[in-house]
Formats: sequence, structure tokens, C-alpha cells
Amino acid sequence: MKDVAIFHRDLRIEDNAALYNASINQEYFSLFVFDKEYWSQTDRSVNQLKFALDSLTELEAKLKEFNVHLYVFEGNLGDLGNYLNKCYSNLNIHMNHTTETEYFSQNLRKLSKENPLNLIKYKDFGIQLSKQNRDIWARDWKIHMKSKTFDIPLVNKNLSTLDLPTFSKFKTNLKQSSPHTQKGGTSSGKDLLNTFLEKRCKGYSKKMSSPSEAAHACSRLSPHIAFGTLSMRNIYQELEKNINNSKYRWDLYSFKKRLHWHCHFIQKLDTQPSLQHQSMHPDCDSLRIETDKELIEKWITGNTGFPFVDACMLYLKKYGWINFRMRAMLMSFASYNLWQPWQQTSPLLASTFTDYEPGIHICQVQMQSGVTGINLPRIYSVVKQSLDQDPDANWIKEQIPNLQNLDKEKIHNAELGELYKEKIVDIKSSAKKARQLIWQIRSNANFKAKAKAVYQLHGSRKRLSS
Ligand SMILES: Cc1cc2nc3c(=O)[nH]c(=O)nc-3n(C[C@H](O)[C@H](O)[C@H](O)COP(=O)(O)OP(=O)(O)OC[C@H]3O[C@@H](n4cnc5c(N)ncnc54)[C@H](O)[C@@H]3O)c2cc1C
Repeated sequence: MKDVAIFHRDLRIEDNAALYNASINQEYFSLFVFDKEYWSQTDRSVNQLKFALDSLTELEAKLKEFNVHLYVFEGNLGDLGNYLNKCYSNLNIHMNHTTETEYFSQNLRKLSKENPLNLIKYKDFGIQLSKQNRDIWARDWKIHMKSKTFDIPLVNKNLSTLDLPTFSKFKTNLKQSSPHTQKGGTSSGKDLLNTFLEKRCKGYSKKMSSPSEAAHACSRLSPHIAFGTLSMRNIYQELEKNINNSKYRWDLYSFKKRLHWHCHFIQKLDTQPSLQHQSMHPDCDSLRIETDKELIEKWITGNTGFPFVDACMLYLKKYGWINFRMRAMLMSFASYNLWQPWQQTSPLLASTFTDYEPGIHICQVQMQSGVTGINLPRIYSVVKQSLDQDPDANWIKEQIPNLQNLDKEKIHNAELGELYKEKIVDIKSSAKKARQLIWQIRSNANFKAKAKAVYQLHGSRKRLSS
């Protein structure tokens, strides 16, 4: 054997640089690394794993058409390095780059540093892997998105067997995932892309704000992009084929902007991995020092006493997805109203998303907590959002059936007394205090100079809202 393709969050055949390059000598196999420790971190969840396993099931069947086995290695990437090193003297390891959290990146270093293996990494997504320069970032992104996609892999000519289980033989003791989790696999991703481009995008730019309408009108491609069942470049190129002749081209322009934001955000974590733990603006880590575990528990379990907040959390937990605006409101509530450190709440929220993408998630969490220094702080009013996004409170009642016969005004204003859970915070005074504290720190000497440095490193040179 000469080559191996390692799958991580690129679970597809098409436009897969690592897989294609591993196939060139036509003597190759493929591997998925199942690391229990990785999957048991606070920010990971059984719903995310279920999506990955669905995708791997489809991938294994597809790989058979190319005469390729998909093996599973149980352990971390460091262990894998030792194993491969023992079994093979001259093996090329092909892997696509992913923007990951610390645990994965540390193990990846072990794979390449502690063993004399030839690890070849490829660019996935439109980010700059070296020579990061925000001044030319948008140009580089476009070049990548418009460039030719990788061909499907060449057929393997040497099907030798390894002493590892193939994916179909591999058994995980998967705990029960939610039956409403989105289904993984490239074919589901393609269906979503096609129906979105064809008709579901009608009204996308408006409907995306409402938790009930967004579920249908948004693309719902996020877990497919996060687990790589579709390549971002393929999505972009399909969009380009359709956009000018579409009746809904303004909606599709809006979607195109978001594909750009995807990479804009993951670039930040890739450039500065410490963002997983540190605020983008260094002064902001002194803002929220104390943690109240009980408040956090009530927030993450949908027991805040604010029906709209609780409904959003319950919906999110059930479906593993909610729209952007509601994610932002949930985070704003935890960071501003409850004044909890984002480092504590971020992984808990991440674990509820099937589409968890650390690069987007960590940067969005920081934005919605007012700690980037380069975005104006925005405190969402949960009462206003409730009124704007669900005027008749029907959606709230669907998520919390006990509220069925109660007055909608009282639901929006969370004035239900004994009829609902006790409110865990005073919404007005907490927002007022948060505003004061945030603006106080922003007015300190040197805040601006440090914010300028953040902008130089991470700021978009094109004005991007959200
Ligand atoms: C606190 C918070 C945490 C978030 N965490 C994640 C996360 O872990 N994973 C994730 O994919 N998205 C995250 N988002 C961004 C956004 O909410 C989701 O991408 C979107 O809701 C996914 O649904 P969709 O695929 O139907 O989106 P669409 O509106 O159809 O957008 C298409 C794609 O564009 C990208 N995108 C859309 N909005 C944004 C955005 N604001 N920033 C960056 N990229 C964007 C996503 O890849 C998305 O799949 C987060 C937002 C907030 C406020």
C-alpha cells in the first residue's frame, strides 16, 4: 500500500482533495478515526456523531464502487501514527485541513511529529492556510470557489486487507440520538441543495429571521457543510449556475453572502486557535469572572421563565438546529442578561447543534457576548423578539403545550405568574447593567488601540453585517 486517505470532516467522494490525491497511485485505502475522547468532549454530542455515522454509511457504499475499503481506527491520531508507522514503511497520509478545536489539533501534531510518516494536507474551504492577509482574503476566497473541483478518485487496483474493522463491522455503543436529527450523507445534502436553489429559497432573506419559517426557507445545509458531505466549492458553483436565471435571485445573493461568511469566520479560529478560550479583545476576559452553574443549567435546559427563550432552547434540543437570529438571542441572553462567561456556555450550546462548526460557533459566541472589540455590542430584547417573530405566540405554544390556553401578550411579556416557571432574571435591569459594563470597558484607555490590532488580524475588509 502506498497511500491512505483519512476522513474527518470531509465525508464525501466528490471534490475531495485528499481522497483524489491518495488515489493517484491506485494502491490505497481509507480510514476514519474514531476517538472516544474527542466525541465525549462537552461541545460534542450524540446527534453530531449520528450525522457522521449516517454519512460514513453512505460513503463506505460509494467507496466500494472504487474498490476501496473504509476502515475504522479506534484511538486518537497519535495512536494512529504509531500504528501506521509499525505496519508501513513508506505510506503517504492524505488529509484535508479542518479548523478544529484544541484537542484535535494537538493530536494531529502528534500524528505528524512523533512518527516519520509523510502527512500531506490539503486545503478545504476558502481559507488562507499560510500567509494570512485579510487585505486580499476576499480575492483569494473567490479564486478558490471558482477553481476547478477535484475529480472523483481513481479505482484502486490493490485491495489488500488490514487488521482493522471496516466501517460496516465497526460497532459503537451509540446512545439514543434525537429522532429529529437531520440525516447525514451526500445524497440528503444534494436533495437539500437542489430543493433550496429551485424553490425553497423563495423569501429566504425575510423568512430566515422567524424560527418557524426559517426551518423550511433556509438551506439547512449547515451540518452537510460542517461534516463535508458536500464541498463548499460545489455548493458555490451550483449556486452560480442557478443564480442569474432564478426568480429568487435576491434571496440567492443573500445566501451567497453567507457562504462567504462561513469561511470568513472559520479563518479567525484557524489564524488564532487561542480564541477557543480567550476573548478576541484581550481586555474583555475580565468582564465576566463568576460562573453561576444553576443559572446556566436553567438556560440550557429551557427553564428560564421566559417562554420565547425556553421555546427556542427546547426546539433547538429537539431538532439540533435553530435559525441564526434565535441562536444569537439565546447567546445574548446568557452573556448579557445572565452575565455568564461565554467560555462556560459556548460548549454547552455547541453540543445542541448537529451542525457544530467550531470556527463559526466560537466567533459568533464571542460576537454575541460583546467581546470581539470590533463589532458593536448588540443586546437582544427577548420580549421584542417574541413579539416580532411569533406575534400570535402559536410557535411558542407548539414548543410548550402547557401555555396553550394562555393570553399571547402575557406570554410575550413573560407575565404568567404562577402559571409558568419563575423568571431567573430581571430582563430590563440586567440589560441596563450589561450595557453599562460593556461600554465602560470599551471607553478604557488603550481599548481602541487593541481593537485596531484585532481588526488588522481578523476584520473583514468588506463591510459584512452579522
Ligand atoms: C451563537 C451562534 C452560534 C452558531 N454556531 C454555528 C455552528 O456551530 N455551525 C454553523 O454552521 N453555523 C453556526 N451559526 C451560524 C448560523 O446560525 C447557521 O450557519 C445557520 O443557522 C445554519 O442554517 P442553514 O444551513 O439553513 O443556513 P443558511 O442561511 O442557509 O446559510 C448557508 C450556510 O452559510 C453559512 N452561514 C450562514 N449564516 C452564517 C453566519 N452568520 N456566520 C457564518 N456562516 C454562516 C453556514 O455554513 C450555512 O450552512 C451560529 C450562529 C450563532 C449566532
